[in-house]
Amino acid sequence: MSEMDKKTNLTGLSHAELVEFIEQFGEPAYRARQIFGALHHRRLRSFDEISELPKALRERLNESATASTLTIESRYISEDGTRRFLMKTHDNLPVETVFIPEERRDTICFSSQSGCPLQCTFCLTAQLGLLRSLTPGEIVEQIIIALNDAYGVGEKPLRGTNLVGMGAGEPFLNFDSLMKALGIMADPQGLFIVPHRVTVSTAGIVPRVQELATIPQRPNLAISLGAPTNEMRDELMPINKKWPLEELLGACKEFEQTLKAGERFTFEYVMLDGVNDSDEQARQLANLLNRHDLHARVNLIPHNPADPLPYQPSPAERVEQFKSILESKGVRTFVRRPRGRDIFAACGQLAARRETNKIQASSQLIGA
Ligand code: SF4
Repeated sequence: MSEMDKKTNLTGLSHAELVEFIEQFGEPAYRARQIFGALHHRRLRSFDEISELPKALRERLNESATASTLTIESRYISEDGTRRFLMKTHDNLPVETVFIPEERRDTICFSSQSGCPLQCTFCLTAQLGLLRSLTPGEIVEQIIIALNDAYGVGEKPLRGTNLVGMGAGEPFLNFDSLMKALGIMADPQGLFIVPHRVTVSTAGIVPRVQELATIPQRPNLAISLGAPTNEMRDELMPINKKWPLEELLGACKEFEQTLKAGERFTFEYVMLDGVNDSDEQARQLANLLNRHDLHARVNLIPHNPADPLPYQPSPAERVEQFKSILESKGVRTFVRRPRGRDIFAACGQLAARRETNKIQASSQLIGA
C-alpha cells in the first residue's frame, strides 16, 4: 500500500463525513465546514492554500489526509473550444475529462473508471480494458480541475455547468462511488451541481437501471443502444449477451414510469456507416421502442472515427433519413453534433491518447 493509499482524500467525503473525520481529529466541527467550502466552493487543491486554518492543523492534515490526488498530464484544446484533459491517478492510471463550452452552459464529460471492462467494438476506451474504478474523490476532482482550468481557481463559472458521465468506463459498474460523488457535488456549500444537471450513460447494466428507478435524488439517465436487434447488439456491445434488449428495455420501461417533472431519459444510438444505419434498422429500432411503449427520445450520434477502429461515421444524409424514419413512427429524434473530434475528445475516442501538436504542458495550467 502506497503512502497515498493510506491517506484519506477529503475531496471524496460528504460534508457529514468530513465533520466526523475532523471531530476524530480532535478539532471542532466548524473546521469541517471551512475545509468543505475551501475544497468544493473555492476549489482549492491543497491544505496549504486554506489560509484560515492554523498552520499546525494544515501540517497535521498533510500527514494523514490529502486534498487532491489527480494530476494533469496534458491538456488539448480543440478548434471548437473543447478541452480534453489527460490526468493521472496517484497510482499512475489514466483518467480523461472533457470540458465542452456552449453558448448557454458548459458541459463536463467525466470518467467513472480508468479504462473500461466492457468491450463495445466502436469504442477506443474498450481497448484499455478495466484498469480500476475511480473513487468518489477522483470523480469530483475531475470537475474541480476542469472548472479551475476554464475559469481560474474558485472563480464562478460564467455559465451553468452540466455534467455527463459518458467518459471512460461504465458508470453503473461503479455505482456507489458515482452516486456518492454526485451527492457531494450537489451540496449547496460546495460545487452545487444538482442531479438534474447530470446525465449518466450506461451500456445497459439492468440491475442498476432498476435500482436507479427507486432513488429519488438521481441523475438523468441515458441508455446507449447502438443496435436495434440482439444479433447486432451482441456483436457491437457484448454486454447485451448478459442483459439482452428485452430485459434492458423492460427495465427502461420501469424507469420511465418513475420519471418526475424535469427529469430526462434518452436513448443514444451511435451511427456506424453501413453497419447499423439502414432504413430497415431504423424501422426495427422504432418498432422495438414502440413495442415496449417507450417514449424517451433518441439521440443519433454520428460515430467519431478513431484508428484502429474499423468504423466510419454515417454520412449526414443517412443520419437524416434514419431520423425521418424514426420520426414517421412517432419516435422523437435528435442528431448530436460531435465536439472536439480533432483532439480525440469525442464520444468513443477516449483512450489516454496523446496528440503532441496540441499539448500544453501541465505546468501552464491553472489549478493543476
Ligand atoms: S462505450 Fe462506454 S461502456 Fe462501452 S466500452 Fe466504451 S466506455 Fe465502456
